[in-house]
Amino acid sequence: MEREAAYWERAGERVRCELCPRYCRLKEGQRGYCGVRVNRGGRLWVDNYGRAGALHLDPTEKKPLFHFHPGSSLLSIGLPGCNLGCAFCQNWDLAHGAPPTREVSPQALVAAARRARESAPDCVGIAYTYAEPLMAFEYVRDTAAQARGEGLANVMVTNGYVNPAPLAELLPLIDAWNIDVKGFSPDYYRKLCQGKRDPVLETVRTVQRFGAHLEATTLLVTGLNDSPQEVEQVARFLAGLSPDLPLHLSRYFPQHKLTLPPTPRSTLEAAREVARRHLRYVYLGNVVGEEVTRCPACDTPLLSRSGYAVTNLACRGGRCAACGAPLPFRGTVHA
Ligand code: SF4
Repeated sequence: MEREAAYWERAGERVRCELCPRYCRLKEGQRGYCGVRVNRGGRLWVDNYGRAGALHLDPTEKKPLFHFHPGSSLLSIGLPGCNLGCAFCQNWDLAHGAPPTREVSPQALVAAARRARESAPDCVGIAYTYAEPLMAFEYVRDTAAQARGEGLANVMVTNGYVNPAPLAELLPLIDAWNIDVKGFSPDYYRKLCQGKRDPVLETVRTVQRFGAHLEATTLLVTGLNDSPQEVEQVARFLAGLSPDLPLHLSRYFPQHKLTLPPTPRSTLEAAREVARRHLRYVYLGNVVGEEVTRCPACDTPLLSRSGYAVTNLACRGGRCAACGAPLPFRGTVHA
């Protein structure tokens, strides 16, 4: 399903892609860094349109999103391509490997999500996830518009490495975002992820200003970005936007090029304490144990998660059962 790409211009003998801050300048036949945009005949084409590398009904908590329709599920699609090159990538084959051959048109995906909602009423929409959905910009835009028309939510799980104009086009279509803030040091982004930090921070600011639901994830990699100082910088940045933004501190395991040992549990716990000085909701990911959300008004435990199983402890009719305060979640609690 090859389509002409959005956001490019001619640059002499080349085409210049303007979707992301890499601004690849491509000769005839050349592919961009993301592997899915190519100059053919002096125009820019994208060849991942509707090429599903993965399609599953996932718990919303798996994205991770803990404050968006808790206990619900999302039909989750992964399309190939990524514009970062993280040394610890968990989805390298889909992100940078050969494009899959299974085709799922926007109409077919929306119909599948509708069927999923009919058979499992906790299915609230579609998640664009697994690799980097911004590299499937055209497909996400077209599908999200149709899904919106059917009353389905759209969720992006993304590295946030995108230019302002395409981001602005997606904003009105996307209900919830989980954006990776991979670290706070520009050097970390450059050396470990082969990208720049500042465009990601700008995406986080823009999504928050727009008012979409937003959560952030930081994978803490042993000895590389897990210092209290760096965690504090991430937390301060997010708290500057809102102390109510949920932050997921996720445990690293050796993947792709990195062979460092997994992040020690004690490091994650310490990082959580640091982040909690600035943010109300800080969760650990990729660990065994319960993650609890407490009422911001009276501290009563509201919801707990163990793996992806969600238990409703004190959410009643959109309020805390103990004190009546509004819940800190967007959407319905499905537990
Ligand atoms: S989207 Fe792909 S081709 Fe376009 S600038 Fe980014 S990496 Fe390069």
